[in-house]
Amino acid sequence: MTASFVASPFAPRRRATREVRVGSVGLGGRNPIRVQSMTTTDTRDTTATADQAERLAAAGCEIVRVTAPSIRDAQNLAAIRAELTRRGVEVPLVADIHFTPNAALEAAEHVEKVRINPGNYADKKRFAVREYTDAEYAEELERVAERFRPLVRRCKELGRAMRIGTNHGSLSDRIMNRFGDTPRGMVESALEFLDVCESEGFRDVVFSMKASNAQVAIQAYRLLVARLEERAPGAPGYPFHLGVTEAGDGVDGRVKSAIGIGALLEDGIGDTIRVSLTEDPVQEVPVARALAARYDARVGTPVPAPPDPGAAFVADPYAHARRKTRAVSVGPLALGGDEPVRVELDLGPAPLDADAAAKEVAAGIERAGDLACEGVGIDVASEAERARAGGLGDALARARLELPLAVRAPLVVAPRALPGVARWVARVEPGWQPSELAVAARAAAEAGLVLEWNLHLPLGYLGEAVDAILDAGGSAAPALFSAEAPRPVHATRLLAARLEARGAGDRPLVLRHRSDPFGPAEDALLHAATDLGAPLCDGLGDAVAVGGFGSPERSLSLAYRILQGARLRTSWTEFISCPSCGRTLFDLEEVTARIKARTQHLPGLKIAVMGCIVNGPGEMADADFGYVGSGTGLVSLYVGKECVVRNVPEAEAPDRLVDLIRDHGQWTDP
Ligand code: SF4
Repeated sequence: MTASFVASPFAPRRRATREVRVGSVGLGGRNPIRVQSMTTTDTRDTTATADQAERLAAAGCEIVRVTAPSIRDAQNLAAIRAELTRRGVEVPLVADIHFTPNAALEAAEHVEKVRINPGNYADKKRFAVREYTDAEYAEELERVAERFRPLVRRCKELGRAMRIGTNHGSLSDRIMNRFGDTPRGMVESALEFLDVCESEGFRDVVFSMKASNAQVAIQAYRLLVARLEERAPGAPGYPFHLGVTEAGDGVDGRVKSAIGIGALLEDGIGDTIRVSLTEDPVQEVPVARALAARYDARVGTPVPAPPDPGAAFVADPYAHARRKTRAVSVGPLALGGDEPVRVELDLGPAPLDADAAAKEVAAGIERAGDLACEGVGIDVASEAERARAGGLGDALARARLELPLAVRAPLVVAPRALPGVARWVARVEPGWQPSELAVAARAAAEAGLVLEWNLHLPLGYLGEAVDAILDAGGSAAPALFSAEAPRPVHATRLLAARLEARGAGDRPLVLRHRSDPFGPAEDALLHAATDLGAPLCDGLGDAVAVGGFGSPERSLSLAYRILQGARLRTSWTEFISCPSCGRTLFDLEEVTARIKARTQHLPGLKIAVMGCIVNGPGEMADADFGYVGSGTGLVSLYVGKECVVRNVPEAEAPDRLVDLIRDHGQWTDP
């Protein structure tokens, strides 16, 4: 590929896009990142849908999507539009279309935007495996284009916008057979539809590339940026709608969304976002607003581009591969190499009462259950405070916690051998002197401590510090590195790239995140998920050190949820549950909670809970088992993509699902 997904991965700017109008709301261009959501009511129920759209708009939702599964639903969009106008609610509406081109044409008459899914607009989706010759492929593509063209023409005539919304797992058989269920397949599928739009001179197009796997979503959006840039070099691109589908609910849903959406926004990619939660859609709005606000605030304060680090931050930004590092022993544990990404608890300033702190850690670890705490970190600010680290080491031993202790200190505080301390985290701050680096490296070696160089520097000064550390003799010692800067995602990339350029690309990286205790709790969670999850999705990071979330168990739990959301380390069953919409056949929130209660103790297993049989099987992506609404009060059960139990009454379905998991040898008792 000749184009890149970002002008610079170290100092991104918002991607330049054309403005697409959705009624009164502009997307892309110089507009802020727009927030949107989707109704979950029956589209033919005008009052219920208008009520929910009104509540969404009042909560700050700028665009509301409504499903239109049939012509009758599409016709009723006119009544919903009229009812909202009567109430003085001018929020633009989007019709969500799957499988029904006729409904799309009808919907375009009444709403400001139409979303189509290239995987099922006019293409087959029967999970059929077959080879297509080039001629057969072209013939089928022309047939699809013929069905799609009338919608494009009508949208152009009426001034409607269109989203070409591809979903992982919901690609047509034609695309699947040629490209597989891959980011490449998602992109090619969307571009085929763009070809038709452009051939008609229609450019009010927005794209989405959603997946329930944040890594896949990130790769697909990036690939699409690069492919669009190849098609029209230097021209403002089409705006992007970001989302992670079937993210689930609660903390997991927020974490997954913040990883996928946040990682892209970090690179300036994304013009409108929807956070899909299996909750009341109004709950999605503050989460989306919090995510968008962080990046809207950056528009006026771009960071200057740092010096070129001389190497790429990852070998391939369109595929996940964990950065290859050497394993380093830290006390009883190793990190880096093939070890799992380690989880450490960052306790903050060294405690005055070491025994009380050790007891609190012990109680938190007990409450965290199976979540392993693999190290503890503290800060000391001066030589006088240094002794407190040894005191905590002793107290941890008295509490029977064999946890390696990491002590973070400014460079002026020399490393010393202290009880329980296995690692010295040397904090390199503005004003550091080369002589201090050599002294710290020597003292750590004499004390038998693993050294972590913690670069607390603006982006522009990181590369120089890495060079000085390696030149000061640090290259021989088994050192770790971490970077802390106002832009932690880019700082970590820069660190990885400069180490690579200097032939030290095998040094393990520690990702650090301590929550701001004075900020809003939701922001803290979302920022942690993005700042840690984005590098993890790129394969960067051998340990995460997390603290400041109110209690040891909450910090540990969040760290593990981020690792699971980034698909790096699995501690719980992975739930893929759709956000529900007007097609949903049961109370999805309640059903998901019921299924979770029965099956959440099966780490490694992916279970999908989907509201309808029309889209559910396609969109549950790589789930191992699926629980899909197939009629009023009826559920069908899937193993992978295969329906194995049809139309069981809802009351029996959870038991049947457990039986199915047991029959496949994947059940263990809680
Ligand atoms: S899978 Fe869920 S969100 Fe998707 S169309 Fe069906 S009910 Fe709606």
